[in-house]
Amino acid sequence: MARAAVVREFGAPMELTEIRVQPPRSGEVLVRIAASGVCGSDLKALDGHSPVAGQPPLVLGHESAGVVAEVGPGVTSVRPGDHVVIAMNGPCGRCRNCSRGRVHLCSGRARLNAITGLMGDGTTRLSVDGVPARPMIGIGSFAEYAVVGEAACVKVRAEAPLDLLALTACAVVTGVGAVLNTARVEMGSSVLVVGCGGVGLNVIQGAVLAGATTIIAADVVPAKLALAEEFGATHTLLADDLPAQVGEIVRGGTDYAFDVTGNVDVLARTFAATQPGGTTVMVGSPPAGRPLPVPPQALFASRRLMGTQGGDAVPRRDLPLLADLHRRGRLNLEGLVSERVPLDKINDAIAHVRSGAVARSVIVFD
Ligand SMILES: [Zn+2]
Ligand SMILES: [Zn+2]
Repeated sequence: MARAAVVREFGAPMELTEIRVQPPRSGEVLVRIAASGVCGSDLKALDGHSPVAGQPPLVLGHESAGVVAEVGPGVTSVRPGDHVVIAMNGPCGRCRNCSRGRVHLCSGRARLNAITGLMGDGTTRLSVDGVPARPMIGIGSFAEYAVVGEAACVKVRAEAPLDLLALTACAVVTGVGAVLNTARVEMGSSVLVVGCGGVGLNVIQGAVLAGATTIIAADVVPAKLALAEEFGATHTLLADDLPAQVGEIVRGGTDYAFDVTGNVDVLARTFAATQPGGTTVMVGSPPAGRPLPVPPQALFASRRLMGTQGGDAVPRRDLPLLADLHRRGRLNLEGLVSERVPLDKINDAIAHVRSGAVARSVIVFD
């Protein structure tokens, strides 16, 4: 049994209750969760708007780290006692996309099942009051224990702070990965980042790591701009008329732009703030069904408009790198944490994230 926050119905507060967790099966790992960040995607799922969450009962949470408690048959890369970050993507390593090095697009069966909240064999290890419960993207870290696929477990040093490294699994790898993996920003570039929440701040620090020399942060909340400066923004804008505001700083627009708002109108203005040859990455996920108001002629000037799959990460390459950058003082994780709360207070944390008052709320377990 494990204490967990369970979604019983969409739109209602999560219920703190005991769930039954079956032992890990072949290729699976039982992890005692140490910390789990609260992400906008959790809110989306809680509201019933997520394409990656099935019907309740559900256990949300996908930005986590913990300690291996037990391993199933055939697991060789981790053992009990190992400290791990739980990656959002546990690539199979064998499908066509993995074979071509596009592991962020793994199309193996385990990956596809995980997206719908099931284990590789299409079942779940969780139940609440005898009813099967699905863990969000095969993780479900708003619980004391989670059973995850071996490929999602990325071992980290035992002395590394798990409450901070948890954030690397989603917000950090998405933001930094969008810069380094997706856009491949070059040294000396100018970069525009629109939306300075938990992910946007990581786009900013990704741009710093890439050697961008002009980093313009835009948001509609002044407090977020102050935080953006701490993370390395060279200019900040209270977003109003983006292309014109950006043009005053970099004539003709920036080399790169990242929209982290998930709003198609903002994305269109972000795109319009890039110069010919510029690249725009859609990092936030807009609601389905809204067309993107971008004039096709703008693409003639060799502009690129791209999506990213969670920073196009290769978990076992990128998560240890992020942990190492943090250890060397080159990646700010502590500054992302607005509050640490126990699981019992998770509905308060959800409310804080919803209000936009925090960069990241982190659920910490004893
Ligand atoms: Zn997330
Ligand atoms: Zn694969």
